[in-house]
Amino acid sequence: MSDCLFCRILDGSVPSKKVYEDETIYAFEDIAPKAPTHVLLIPKKHVAQLADMSPEDEPLVGALAARAAAIARERGLSDYRLVANNGEGAGQSVFHFHFHLLGGRPFRWPPG
Ligand code: 5GP
Ligand code: ZN
Repeated sequence: MSDCLFCRILDGSVPSKKVYEDETIYAFEDIAPKAPTHVLLIPKKHVAQLADMSPEDEPLVGALAARAAAIARERGLSDYRLVANNGEGAGQSVFHFHFHLLGGRPFRWPPG
């Protein structure tokens, strides 16, 4: 989708700092990090939000979560947070599904 920021990151028209890439997944540094580690993990296929994932997408969601754990492991993080904001009211601002991998500082619960 040409009007989607993360699709434009995927096609290279918006630059990003790559962390990981395979056939179905792209991971990159968040432009405004909220923790020492703040990586965004996205599917290469455009899906607006978690609620729009179909049953066939379940392996993709699992692969994104597993990759987040692998990136955390590579960075020596044992404590970290994996977040998916679904909908504006939950804080979603870019409507191309993404996980936030946040680590490197303590986190409070519940989140704001
Ligand atoms: P959301 O609010 O949708 O859960 O998360 C969107 C995230 O995308 C935010 O953490 C924001 O900082 C990040 N972001 C917004 N624009 C860009 C950009 O152009 N490049 C990168 N790398 N991250 C972005
Ligand atoms: Zn998109």
